[in-house]
Amino acid sequence: MELLSSLPLFVARCCQALHVAGFQAYPVGGCVRDLLLSRTPQDWDVCTSALPSQVQALFPHTVPTGLAYGTVTVVLEGGTVEVTTFRQEDRYGDGRRPDAVSFVSSLEADLSRRDFTINAMAMAPDGQLLDPFGGRGDLQRRSVRCVGKPELRFREDRLRMFRAIRFAAQLDFQLEGQLLQALMELGAQPHTLPPERIRPEVEKTLCAPAPHWAGLLFSSGLLSAFLPNRLEVETAILSTLLPTPLARWAGLAALLRQEGADPLPLLQGLIPDRALIVPLTKALALEVPTDARGWRHLLSRHGVTTCQALAAMSPGSQPLQALENVLAQAPCISPKQLALSGQDLMALGLSGIEIGRVQKTLLEHVLDHPEDNTPEKLVRQITSRRK
Ligand code: ATP
Ligand code: MG
Repeated sequence: MELLSSLPLFVARCCQALHVAGFQAYPVGGCVRDLLLSRTPQDWDVCTSALPSQVQALFPHTVPTGLAYGTVTVVLEGGTVEVTTFRQEDRYGDGRRPDAVSFVSSLEADLSRRDFTINAMAMAPDGQLLDPFGGRGDLQRRSVRCVGKPELRFREDRLRMFRAIRFAAQLDFQLEGQLLQALMELGAQPHTLPPERIRPEVEKTLCAPAPHWAGLLFSSGLLSAFLPNRLEVETAILSTLLPTPLARWAGLAALLRQEGADPLPLLQGLIPDRALIVPLTKALALEVPTDARGWRHLLSRHGVTTCQALAAMSPGSQPLQALENVLAQAPCISPKQLALSGQDLMALGLSGIEIGRVQKTLLEHVLDHPEDNTPEKLVRQITSRRK
């Protein structure tokens, strides 16, 4: 079967080694979904009847990634595989092998604990698709549907609501009716999900090909811990921004502001990464320059990243285009980029703090007149100012 031929050799070998040792092993979850969609899987998951210690004993190179959850990373030539013992209560703790019937039920029990039908498929050794919940049909319908009753599954784990939206955004799928209904009903309920679990899902939603799904995060109240109310945010514009965290968070911040909501608690609550949150918060306090000269001054004062965030926050494509045009000219925005170096200035007879002062003046001049950043013109500047 073609599903089998699309499985990388190292994953097939990993499963085979487990089979030879007498265990069940199935590629499962996201990787099976992505193979069926002809997408490149992010990671390779295998579920198995082997216990973590048995997996560790079988492969020379393993990493105990999540022993508490039964996950061992197997490192092979060609890639790594996350091998997880069947998730089910009646596991054989002593390593005894259950009979064939309970193998099948173990796999089904494992699949039934997964979030969505499209994520609850496994691949048999002969390449046959094991799909007890109709995941393939939902892939064809382009629909995210819960395994079991959405309300129950969402009450068990609220993160699944974020994940549903994330998959709709990444795959450009719809949310199945009952799932959507449960999400709208349960979204705004108070919860204790830690931000570090929410953040990746929100960021993946924002950076996805169909980022307008982020609107549902606000209309459902899922992010109401950071915002006063449920909010209708018109998010269609996000897809016009670069699919980077910086640009998409910036775009979202601007949309929230348009709706009269303060984006800061959300940004600060969800983004721990200083390289991201600092430029975003700085940009929120800045005005968009009206011309190239203004952009150069802003670049010099605040750096490229903050300016990129500011441009992404500004309505229309003009600011982004303007900033791009300025950056394409590789303008001089710091003393280091002046056509005269500190040493050149020393050779011209300057010394000590004078050098820094002259550099500052030259930089101000070059920011206004970028065409003047040549050694001759800068020397002329210095001599004319000395007179
Ligand atoms: P990605 O392409 O982002 O890796 P994925 O579907 O592989 O997507 P993971 O977060 O890597 O998602 O999880 C692997 C699998 O584990 C999922 O496909 C799903 O079957 C299951 N899973 C993950 N999180 C949950 C959850 N909160 N509830 C139930 N099952 C989950
Ligand atoms: Mg995955």
